[in-house]
Amino acid sequence: MQYFLYARKSTDVEDKQVLSIEAQLSELRALAKQEQLNVVEVFVEKKSAKMPGRPIFIEMMARIQKGEAQGIICWKIDRLARNPVDGGQIQWLLQNGTIQHIQTHDRAYYPADNVLMMSVEFGMANQYIRDLSVNTKRGLREKARQGIYPSSAPLGYVNNPRTKTIAVDRRTAPVIRKAFEMYAENKYRLEDIANFLHQNKISTRATRRWSSDGGKPHSKDQMTWMLSNPFYYGHFKYSGEMYEGKHTPLIDKRLFDRVQEVLKLRGKKKALKNSPQVFCGLLSCDSCDSSITAEKQKGHVYYRCTRKKGICTEPYVREEMLDFQLSEILARFVLPPEWAAELNRLADKDEKETSQIAAASVQEMRSKIASLDGKIARITDLFVDQDIERDVYLERRHALMSEKRSLQEQSLLLERDVAVWLEPMREWINEAQALTGIAQSQDYPSKKSSLQKVFGSNLTLHAREARGAPQNQWLSLAQAKTDFPKMGLISTVVRRVGFEPTNAYSGMVYSHHPLTTWIPTRTWLL
Ligand SMILES: [Zn+2]
Repeated sequence: MQYFLYARKSTDVEDKQVLSIEAQLSELRALAKQEQLNVVEVFVEKKSAKMPGRPIFIEMMARIQKGEAQGIICWKIDRLARNPVDGGQIQWLLQNGTIQHIQTHDRAYYPADNVLMMSVEFGMANQYIRDLSVNTKRGLREKARQGIYPSSAPLGYVNNPRTKTIAVDRRTAPVIRKAFEMYAENKYRLEDIANFLHQNKISTRATRRWSSDGGKPHSKDQMTWMLSNPFYYGHFKYSGEMYEGKHTPLIDKRLFDRVQEVLKLRGKKKALKNSPQVFCGLLSCDSCDSSITAEKQKGHVYYRCTRKKGICTEPYVREEMLDFQLSEILARFVLPPEWAAELNRLADKDEKETSQIAAASVQEMRSKIASLDGKIARITDLFVDQDIERDVYLERRHALMSEKRSLQEQSLLLERDVAVWLEPMREWINEAQALTGIAQSQDYPSKKSSLQKVFGSNLTLHAREARGAPQNQWLSLAQAKTDFPKMGLISTVVRRVGFEPTNAYSGMVYSHHPLTTWIPTRTWLL
């Protein structure tokens, strides 16, 4: 059986029409492919105000009567019938079998169908001709909302061929979730994650050609792809566009965002491979900005500039000496117990106060979410009306949806547990107190990770001496310790320190509260 494909757009603006018809055609071609319908010719009606009537439609109907095709594919039945005469003609041809099948995006019409039913539909098309655009909008938006799942399920999920949905795989899902959590700690390489999956029997699949192939750890690229796939928090990308999926998310967006930070950070540090010497990757050369490496000579470990950026005369430093310096540096960032106690007391007080503000915040976030929904709907309308380009539409929609998801999670967290906002603060208090033990110990890896928290990548080696500028609250703490060596000045300290609140929380009621300016941002994120 042969089909004609018919697309029409009723707007009068010629240049805007082209895109819309392109969109309609690609939908209809996909529909034909999916239903395995043989399209022999495509008819496109580019009606303008100067040309009354529908010459293309009339031509198509004439050729159907000649027997050139027996079926029509169109977006909606009301695309075909613009007036009762057209409607009547189609009904007549369908009744006498000249047309054997009309396929629209949501249903099929056959000769045996109830004539009355179809009359009503055509009638409605005439009656609500003004609502045509509304219908089309609704149709397109609905399609965008439903989306189409990618053909094969990502790791941790399985395809359900019966329902054509994607379901959580009970065996692998917990492993994938764990992999995200591990990577968020910023202690593992992509290879380590791949090996972790491999150990838990998540490996490459055998290809069709080589059945013995497969069963190997996934590649680094595959891990990057997995760790940056929004599917795991509930959205998915399909032909460049983001959709809210119907599948169950494996992780929340907060964890996902944290993993993205680590991916970004580690991507930059590619040059610094894991070295057997513990302080490698911690410092860079103060003179030439090359990384610092280590080598063993006569039973001692020496750290030196790699001189990758040219000639450099910075001298070697022995590991024992470096360790001594690093310990001394760390000790500067120890939070005195009295200060810690005072901060904890303030945190408790803050918790009480914030729980009262929380209710108001949740309300505010809800209204923001509602306004984002409105924006998403409006921008879809604009796109359907061809008032904005597809690229612009996709980009804005993506941004709005991401913002909405973050807000939803934050508001959920707030509703569930207000104290969660103070957890990073308390964690930091503990961390800063624990430095005293770490500084005195021989636990090199802990020293390294503590120093990385304090300095980020700001630590350099200059004339055998480690130095650097601490970041965020660590800087504030060091300054406070210098300026206010006496206890009891903690309230002054609290008020004068400050660094940017994280983006995720900005705009919230808390962001201007004095105590929350202490919330360690980078340190717990990375
Ligand atoms: Zn150097």
